[in-house]
Amino acid sequence: MRPLDRYSRQTIFQEIGEEGQLKLLQSKVAVIGMGALGTVIANNLCRAGVGYLRLVDRDYVELSNLQRQTLYNEQDAADQMPKAVAAVKHLEKINSEIQIEAVLKDVNSGNVESILDGMDLVVDGTDNLETRLLINDACLKNNIPWVHGAALAGSGLTMNIIPGQTPCLRCLHPELPAPGSHPTCSTAGVLGMITGIIGCLESTEAIKILIGSPRINRKLCVVNIWYNQFTYLDIEQNPRCLACVEHKFEYLNSVKGSYTVSLCGRDSIQVIPAKAGDIDFQTMAEKLKNLGTVKYNPFTLNFSASNSNLEITLFQDGRAIIKNVKDDQTAKSAYAEYIGL
Ligand SMILES: [Zn+2]
Repeated sequence: MRPLDRYSRQTIFQEIGEEGQLKLLQSKVAVIGMGALGTVIANNLCRAGVGYLRLVDRDYVELSNLQRQTLYNEQDAADQMPKAVAAVKHLEKINSEIQIEAVLKDVNSGNVESILDGMDLVVDGTDNLETRLLINDACLKNNIPWVHGAALAGSGLTMNIIPGQTPCLRCLHPELPAPGSHPTCSTAGVLGMITGIIGCLESTEAIKILIGSPRINRKLCVVNIWYNQFTYLDIEQNPRCLACVEHKFEYLNSVKGSYTVSLCGRDSIQVIPAKAGDIDFQTMAEKLKNLGTVKYNPFTLNFSASNSNLEITLFQDGRAIIKNVKDDQTAKSAYAEYIGL
């Protein structure tokens, strides 16, 4: 067999051709977050023959992931396999001719530039806006194109951010929303089909960008599969955007962003969001009631998760004390999952 034969169905497609395939084989892509979006993206890019994949994730596989995180199985959950490791294990059996690297890290302002070093493109599989704005800063600073994507409930969106050519994510989100004001996958749910669709759109755009196709999407694509909507919206650069116009990278320089403080006593960590909010405990209790026990008074809300011994005490300004967690990153993940960053 000729070396490119395994890709024949996509090299016959004239928009890619053998020339495009050779570019893909020479490309290096980081996928940040190996959850529902990341597993779809990594699977597509691996099969399409992107030569080098760097898969980044801080979490391990759980049974409730299998509804939508298409690379994993029950054994991965039983073994509590780190997602990046499980993904590499499965993908290596699909395409042994490319290089795939697992990075078991929480992406933060201190490590994001080294994680993205040498990459031609970054694809978004993350689950929170703060990490996305950090990736936005790092990619703009280092002139790396990136594909943004997100999904929740039955809807999702994607846009391409090409430094110097398109608006950036901070043009759309000049500031972080107040903590707790947005639903998360744990409180609003997410359909496996929408993460599949958004992950496929993101990986298609990734391939177009890598081969230099003139067909790159320059709009914000918004999809709602439950209400039958597929929309492409024009977006404009914010002429005062701190990130893509003024090159002030606040998330990268840690001026913005939530932070954590370990408290006296064992296994309690305080998470302080970047922006103080005014949390409506009644609404928050309604969001959390199916996930555990919730009690609140006018000052604090206490949540005990039903599937673990995790406990969160939330103050009205968004500050939270997370009990029974071992490290800052787990506390921050719990905050992002249940309260929302
Ligand atoms: Zn911008």
